[in-house]
Amino acid sequence: MNERVERLRGSLLEPLLVSASANVRYLSGLVSSNAALLVEPERVRLFTDFRYAETARGIEGVEVELIKRNLYANLAELLTGRIGFEASALSYASWETLARGSLELVPRHGLVESLRAVKDDRELRAIRTAAAITNRMYEQLAAEQFVGRTERELAWRIEVLFQELGAEEEAFSATVAAGENGARPHTEPGDRVIQPGQTVVVDAGCVIDGYCSDCTRTFATGPLPARLAEAYEVCLSAQDEALAAVRADARGEDVDAVARSRIAAAGLGDAFGHGLGHGVGLLVHEDPRLAPESESVLAAGNVVTVEPGIYLSGLGGIRIEDLVVVTDSAPEVLTTFPKELTTVH
Ligand code: ZN
Ligand code: ZN
Repeated sequence: MNERVERLRGSLLEPLLVSASANVRYLSGLVSSNAALLVEPERVRLFTDFRYAETARGIEGVEVELIKRNLYANLAELLTGRIGFEASALSYASWETLARGSLELVPRHGLVESLRAVKDDRELRAIRTAAAITNRMYEQLAAEQFVGRTERELAWRIEVLFQELGAEEEAFSATVAAGENGARPHTEPGDRVIQPGQTVVVDAGCVIDGYCSDCTRTFATGPLPARLAEAYEVCLSAQDEALAAVRADARGEDVDAVARSRIAAAGLGDAFGHGLGHGVGLLVHEDPRLAPESESVLAAGNVVTVEPGIYLSGLGGIRIEDLVVVTDSAPEVLTTFPKELTTVH
């Protein structure tokens, strides 16, 4: 039906049951919480229920089969023979249901995900637009009052700004982490009132045509304690050096090591406990990965984040995250809001 399905077929040893919703969307365009594709050598069958029937019938190149109740109970009755399934998408309970029939089920890993990792022009356009909206969101946010407002108020403001700027929705609930709360990389915004002389870590992204953006900036609400100000400069140079290492054929592990060794050289190695970055697309976290344990090798057309952080317990946090397109030379940086420490009031 389409070039994505053709490429997938090239890697299949048996028909593949595609059940991860992002993968179903990638291959067919259908956005559904209850659908699966069976990709066979000569045809693609799309199983979904009445709620998606109208949309499904409009999709070229698929045979639509409406299911009545539990998707997997239906498939167990309908299908026979040997098929692959997406091991990371199918729950154990769904596997049990499928296994009740006569299918021979073969676990497969990352087949559609590896295709999704390399973006085509249409996908890049959506991500560039989402990133441009995110840049404008940061510009408007930075012009606003921070001190005296709560993290939660700012997080809500970010959601409103994204709506006003034309985003479909937030890619994830924005992080706003002020003062010592910033030392927790994935904290929830709370009722903490932002004070002068703190860092405020803001991590936000939006969605355009189903594709995500992801960007973090760390603001200062006035002069910072010396340790935090120094750590900011370390984080920024680690981020810049890692960005310079992002190119096709670089190993995810090696790019991560560039930032990690820069931070370790400043005596802050223990303060950077997460991976350097991740792929972004239909999901905000996808392949490839930039991390110490990553087996990814970058390819032109990957879209990845580069986001070192330094988290100082009791003092505050710093993270600087850009979203970039991998090329054969220097990456195309999509998140252009300034990275020099921006003071807000
Ligand atoms: Zn982020
Ligand atoms: Zn990220």
